[in-house]
Formats: sequence, structure tokens, C-alpha cells
Amino acid sequence: MGIKSDKIWLDGEFVDFEDANVHILTHTLHYGLGAFEGIRCYQREDGKSAIFRLSEHIRRLIESCKICTIDVPFTQEQIERACIETVKVNGFEDCYLRPLVFLGHGEMGLSATSNKVRVAVIAWKWGAYLGDEGLEKGIRAKVSSFNRHHVNSSMVKGKINGQYVNSILAKREVMAAGYDEAIMLDTDGYISEASGENIFIVYRNRLFTTPIGSSILGGITRDTIVTLAKERGISIIEQRFTRDMLYTADEIFMVGTAAEITPVRELDERTIGDGTVGPVTKALQAAYFDQVKGSSTDHPEWLAIVE
Ligand code: PMP
Repeated sequence: MGIKSDKIWLDGEFVDFEDANVHILTHTLHYGLGAFEGIRCYQREDGKSAIFRLSEHIRRLIESCKICTIDVPFTQEQIERACIETVKVNGFEDCYLRPLVFLGHGEMGLSATSNKVRVAVIAWKWGAYLGDEGLEKGIRAKVSSFNRHHVNSSMVKGKINGQYVNSILAKREVMAAGYDEAIMLDTDGYISEASGENIFIVYRNRLFTTPIGSSILGGITRDTIVTLAKERGISIIEQRFTRDMLYTADEIFMVGTAAEITPVRELDERTIGDGTVGPVTKALQAAYFDQVKGSSTDHPEWLAIVE
């Protein structure tokens, strides 16, 4: 099925997929100043479709724009509604949603300020980002030679288009070496995150994740897992940790909207734990899937029902 849909929401109205085009002088295409989101809509056990944590994603989109000094010409509520309508108009029961804010054509150069701010919402069918087998059995990861941005080189809390060059270089590097995903260190050499996921480890029976005030993107899945873990009596230590702690961890898993909860079975040629999916990963993965597409009624505030 690929990334095809019938309609794309562009600047306030629906256009046909083939007509959702931009000019070659589109500013963001040249310099990368823009912001985007990645959101999933799931069909739940009761048959209803729900977009998971829609308002948190759109809030992050608007905050990313604020970081970039871009004034978004739509309200949070309007963009949320556009996401719901995009699922409906395309007749999807489950899909991935890609809201995008970018600067259109007009002025060129870095000093441009008059370009129209354009907003799109695109939907497509997207299966398991790191593969079904990866979700079930775990993936093979490698620490990349590329560091995650320094916190004052790029604005790491923003999901900003141009910043993804860093993630893509890391991802391409490790994929060329035969691995599934890249783990990036921060500029001090501590674990930061994967190319598109935050990282959790179980180390000496305690669950760790990197702190929000570090170089990571503040992942919404990360926040979901922290909440679900605490509700199950699993306390979380949010602090920086080192690469060798990963090598000797009992469990490692990566979390993100696209990758969901993906275990890591091997890192830099070392088997993690006994190479199978560990009990904490399994429990939190099950809790996550029950929350997003099962029958859990624990967090109705996280579900934007498509209706
Ligand atoms: N880190 C990076 C660099 C990402 O691109 C993503 C995906 N948006 C994440 C972490 C996970 O964020 P979320 O759980 O909000 O999808």
C-alpha cells in the first residue's frame, strides 16, 4: 500500500494526493527550518479508531515551531481536528499521521521572514517501523560514530526537520554495517537516544531512562512508558548512563511512536541478557499495546476517538 492516501490536508483544505505539491523554492526544502510530528492511530478492540496522545503531539509541534520562531497559522484545536478528519476522509482504521509545518517559497536566503507558513497533515498505512520480528524477538543495534546534537547546537526538544540529518547519518551508517538501529551518544559520551527512539535499560534490576533535561527529544512514548511503569509499581531512574552499562544490561528496549516498544537483543556484537525479550520489556510492551489498541480504559485522556 505504501504511503498513498486519497487526500492530504494542506493549508486548511483537503487536496488529492497527486495535487499536494510544493514549489522547488520551498524554503524548508533548502534550509530545514520547519517542524513535524509522527502520530499513530490504532483500531482498538472495541472497533473504534483512536489517535494516541494527539494533543500532546500537536502541542509538541507548536512548541517545535515556537523554538524555530515560526508562527503557526492554525490553532492547536484546528490541527487536531485536521488530523481526525484526515483519518476519516481516507477511510483508515489505523494509520500513521504526519503533521508538517514548513516555510513556503517566496524569499530566499537565511534572513527570509515573509514566506508563508504552510501546514499539512498526511496519513499513510505504516506497519512495525523496525519490523514485526524486531518487535517480537528484538533487534540488533550499534552505537553510531555520530553524536546526538549538542544541546546548544540544535534545539533538541524540537522535532525540527533539518535536525534529522544527524539521525539519518547515524541510521545509514549502522544499516550499511548490517544492523537494524543506531544508538547515539551525547557529546559527553553518555547514551542519548536511538535515531528515532528513546532508550530504556534494565540494569541490576532497576529501570533507567535518559533524563528529559538532556540531549534527547522528549518522546511521548517515553512519557507513556514512564507512566505505565510507575502505575505497575516499577520505579524509574531518570539519569544519564554509559555505553558499558548497556553492554551489561539485563534488558534494553527502544520506544517511539513509529517503533512502539522494540526490544534490543544485541548491541555492538554483545548479546543483551540471554538474547531473548526480558520480563520488564515484555510487561511494558503488553501494557503499551493494551493501552493503544487493546481494551485498557486506564487513560481515556490519551485517546482521541475518530468520529
Ligand atoms: N527521539 C527521536 C530523535 C525521534 O525522532 C522520536 C520519534 N518522534 C523519538 C525519540 C520518540 O518520540 P515519540 O515517542 O514522541 O514518537
